[in-house]
Amino acid sequence: MTIDERIARAEEALKPVFARIDENEEACTKRVLDAFREHGVAVRHFAPTLGYGYDDIGRDTLAAIWADLFGAEAAIVRPSIASGTAALSLTLFGLTRPGEHILSATGTPYDTLLDVIGSGEGEPVPGSLREMGVSYSQVELTADGKIDLEAVERALQPNTTLVIAQRSRGYAWRPSLMPEAFAPLAEMLHTRHPGVRLMVDNCYGEFVCDTEPTHHGADVCVGSLIKNPGGGLAPTGGYMAGTREAIDRISWRITAPGIGLEVGSYAASYQPFYQGLFMAPHTVAQALKTACLVARVFEDMGRTTTPPSDEPRADIIQAIRLETPENLIRFCQGIQMASPVDSMALPEPWDMPGYADQVIMAAGTFVSGASIELSADGPMRPPYTAYMQGALTYMHGKLALKSALKHMGL
Ligand SMILES: *Cc1c(COP(=O)(O)O)cnc(C)c1O
Repeated sequence: MTIDERIARAEEALKPVFARIDENEEACTKRVLDAFREHGVAVRHFAPTLGYGYDDIGRDTLAAIWADLFGAEAAIVRPSIASGTAALSLTLFGLTRPGEHILSATGTPYDTLLDVIGSGEGEPVPGSLREMGVSYSQVELTADGKIDLEAVERALQPNTTLVIAQRSRGYAWRPSLMPEAFAPLAEMLHTRHPGVRLMVDNCYGEFVCDTEPTHHGADVCVGSLIKNPGGGLAPTGGYMAGTREAIDRISWRITAPGIGLEVGSYAASYQPFYQGLFMAPHTVAQALKTACLVARVFEDMGRTTTPPSDEPRADIIQAIRLETPENLIRFCQGIQMASPVDSMALPEPWDMPGYADQVIMAAGTFVSGASIELSADGPMRPPYTAYMQGALTYMHGKLALKSALKHMGL
């Protein structure tokens, strides 16, 4: 079968899946549009500000819209938050005090959080939560990838004040969690352990479903603007959405105690953040369709994928077991060759700091590091799994898949 035939066959099979994605895009677009109308978004909201940024209407309205979209009381949405990790770090430091304990309900958190938490033996990582006297432990997901409520409750300590959970699979071979999967955990904590808050790392999850974890009881959701909710247009930034009380606490870390969200200017325009948010449900749908197509084509060739192409999704990440080092390298190279930016770069496996195995990465993005744009990577170890996510347009995703299949000699 030719590559074009393989893709046509996969697209035919995916029609009902794509219809479901369209339905979700419509529902999410409606929510965004309703929020924009509710808050009377107008050209004046895009204006840059300088200095302290008192009464910055662009900044404050964007945060108010975000809170509405997340079914939250308040939100922080700022270009000054450097990354998703920075947003998560600000949140963890904001919501804990020395002597308190953080419990992860979804096993090991995302790699970059390990230094923030400072978990592990020996001297604490300088600046980490552990150095500040905040302790940490974790509970694994059940064998079928669910939150183990009983184990979480047993692992709560008298000084536990924050339970953290990660919605996305990240770079692990585990299922992602649907927004509603956090409801029983939130309810258990709120009814039986008042004073313990629930934070969800929502990276890669926004607009994949019609609701977010905050709609189901999470006290705060945190994420990056160069992933889903920036719609591919936001140039940088991060967000938190949650209860007024949690957001207030985090706001002291964003600027200073006593000042909170009153200050913070942005000398460029807020327009890409608004337009990016408006585009986000569509962009996420493009990324989801790309992920389904890639999964389906490789499934048709006998490869194992997670999630499978027809399974309901909670994030935009697609993992494919490629089984050989050559396959993984050529897949990533083929994706890179079809990138709009840096198509001339040929990725090779390299020793990335902090990783045990070599890693190969393909990304040719307009916004540096933006993984709502098409990117693929994987660690050079069996079963040579490629993790891919993003695509601003489905057509780019499809053409990049063709390029990868061709480069793999399939
Ligand atoms: C991307 C990501 C982060 C960290 O975000 P950066 O912007 O890369 O710092 C944290 N958690 C999850 C699940 C992520 O996908």
